[in-house]
Amino acid sequence: MSIEENLNKIRENISNVTLVAVSKTKPIEDLKVAYDLGQKDFGENKVQELIDKVEALPKDIRWHFIGNLQTNKVKYLVGKVFLIHSLSSIKLLRKIEDEFSKKNSVANLLIQINIGKEETKGGIFEEDLENFIIEIEKCNSCKVKGIMSIIPKGSNEENRYYFRKIKNIYDDLSNRSFKNITMEILSMGMTHDYKIAIEEGSNLIRVGEGIFGKRNIVGGLTNG
Ligand SMILES: *Cc1c(COP(=O)(O)O)cnc(C)c1O
Repeated sequence: MSIEENLNKIRENISNVTLVAVSKTKPIEDLKVAYDLGQKDFGENKVQELIDKVEALPKDIRWHFIGNLQTNKVKYLVGKVFLIHSLSSIKLLRKIEDEFSKKNSVANLLIQINIGKEETKGGIFEEDLENFIIEIEKCNSCKVKGIMSIIPKGSNEENRYYFRKIKNIYDDLSNRSFKNITMEILSMGMTHDYKIAIEEGSNLIRVGEGIFGKRNIVGGLTNG
């Protein structure tokens, strides 16, 4: 199927949900095709690749950083990125605060939660959330807009179980009030599970292969 057919199919299935087109490893021409079809949100998981694409494509695109973010690369994202989905440690939070405040910029962030406690995935554990929040409240240049999660691979029922757990955390935080934290975006669901994610409350899905087709092996899930 073409990018156009894929996009149309997904658009038929969603309403009031933001679709981030995950374009990692894909050439500029493919992004241009999606852009010309009205796609304005794109997701990348490597800093250099994101910067290159920002430079090559129209300025009204909203770039989402969704990969594991190394602290030494944070500075390159200032002024380039609409939303960082992968806030996953206090060390990274401090670095983002530092680099964005230096340039009088504000970072919009999602807390990445490692809901399945998988070693191969980034994100904080649910039980560490309260301490993490204390650190976020100390910031001046970091604004948390919601939660992102990558769930463990599994059956539809298992997917639903994890999405529900994440939604519960999101609802709990929604009902409390914090400095620097509001719950507006719940980023969960990818090519194979986005429909279930939306049923369980996602309002932002990140779809790669379902739009652009299969990736080469270099496009791993967590490469920074
Ligand atoms: C690659 C990636 C996606 C997209 O995965 P698909 O299976 O291609 O839809 C979504 N989220 C993150 C964090 C990714 O790294």
